[in-house]
Amino acid sequence: MVFGFSKASRKRLQSISTLAPRNFVDSLDFVSNSSQTIRFHSSQIHLDSGEIAPGEVVCAPNEPLELFPGMRSADSIKLPDTVHIALGRVDPHVHFRESATPTRSEFEEWGPTGTDYESLIESIDKANRSYSVRSGCLAALKGGVCIVGAMGNTPWGPVGPYRHQRAQDHYNEKSLLPIVVWPRMEPDAAPISRHEGKDFGSTFGGSGLTGDARKKMYSLWKGEAISYHNDQARPTETLEAFKERVRPDLRLLHHEYFDGSTVLACQKETMDLAESVGVSSLLARHIPTGPALQQILDRASSSSFALPAEIGLDYVYWCRERLLEQDSEIALINYRRPAHPSYEDQQSLIHLTKETLNKGYSIFFGTDHAPHAKAAKAFSNGLPGSPGTRNIEHSLQYYFELHARYGYSWNEIDRLAAINPAKHMSQFASFPYEIGTMETGAMANLAIFDDSVQYSVDESLLAQQLEDPEYHSALSGEAGLRGKSLFTVVNGRVYDVEAEIKALN
Ligand SMILES: [Zn+2]
Repeated sequence: MVFGFSKASRKRLQSISTLAPRNFVDSLDFVSNSSQTIRFHSSQIHLDSGEIAPGEVVCAPNEPLELFPGMRSADSIKLPDTVHIALGRVDPHVHFRESATPTRSEFEEWGPTGTDYESLIESIDKANRSYSVRSGCLAALKGGVCIVGAMGNTPWGPVGPYRHQRAQDHYNEKSLLPIVVWPRMEPDAAPISRHEGKDFGSTFGGSGLTGDARKKMYSLWKGEAISYHNDQARPTETLEAFKERVRPDLRLLHHEYFDGSTVLACQKETMDLAESVGVSSLLARHIPTGPALQQILDRASSSSFALPAEIGLDYVYWCRERLLEQDSEIALINYRRPAHPSYEDQQSLIHLTKETLNKGYSIFFGTDHAPHAKAAKAFSNGLPGSPGTRNIEHSLQYYFELHARYGYSWNEIDRLAAINPAKHMSQFASFPYEIGTMETGAMANLAIFDDSVQYSVDESLLAQQLEDPEYHSALSGEAGLRGKSLFTVVNGRVYDVEAEIKALN
């Protein structure tokens, strides 16, 4: 086995092996040229068996993982005992917002209709200025996430095979990690076989498709896999009318209007539609409550198609009661769809997720990372702006909530955050090596983190580190957060993510 370090650098590596993680950054600067091998020793490697054991991992760019349980060699970087090496996280649900820019002839051939070329380019430029694939990737790396699935609700979205490929190519070019772009379903757009189509039809503020149009769109994807956002407005009352009638605490306006019954209605309608058309699989995105998960499990027991379940990661942290304890100004940016659950519905979600996982069901987390500009989040005419929060960079802190407060084992977290979503995504995309397994020969995707340190959000620091001038966080000011990401390894490339994010090999 060939290691990239010279004898002298090995010596220097040994000399830093007893330092605290904070010091790795500077000490490792000297190895930050390409095609080098980095070897980590940890007393806490998360094995697929569920066991946490000492050993070493070897990472080199584009090379598969090498795993040596029990080994402790002299030329490895010895991590402190509180540092874990877990599988890199896989997040199937992010909005990175950037759009490929079509030429005029592409626009004329592939649409969209209903707008002119100049207006489209203007909205693409606006979207691309406010957030980038690169910022999204930096945020993912910060959260220990190595692979993401990106949504296509962008100005020139991945509609139909041609535009989907263009969007995928654009993301590949800009990305620091594998991104799977989900094809966007539209009533006249050809499906992409053996991929997973994303239905924005029902989404409040999405395509606004109803009845026959949505059914027509599903028919095109007969026999294929589909996913959908399970949020929609109340059919009989607007948010404005609800506000007039109920006059809730403004922090809860959004959360009481989209109260969980809106999710149940959307899920039922969509499952009926999928059944009537005959799809192979229907993934509910960002499930926010125990009853919503239960509804899917009940249906799965007799359905002719698979019903995988994506749990919205931040719902395990936020509930309405907690929002009322939050600083009012931050609480007013802390809305998303589906809305945050009641405490009771949150507790049942947390309990049922664990139970469902341990029955072997295809259940996993998604963050719905939604990096809206600050201005877009502002209330206008007394009503909230765009719903969505930046989440992915704080994945680890959310996991810690489940681990510390609700007794989820690290293996349960690994299955929900890495193994199960990897299995799901592997059906629709290929990767250089097997993903979702901590084995020699698998893709070297790792999340290396310290679970012993307290964490608090520093917005201006994160704005810098994530190259995201609009950065703001719903977790600002939250006390009691824990965990710190140290290194994230993507296909053998080791990123130091503790402060500024940089590749070490
Ligand atoms: Zn979403």
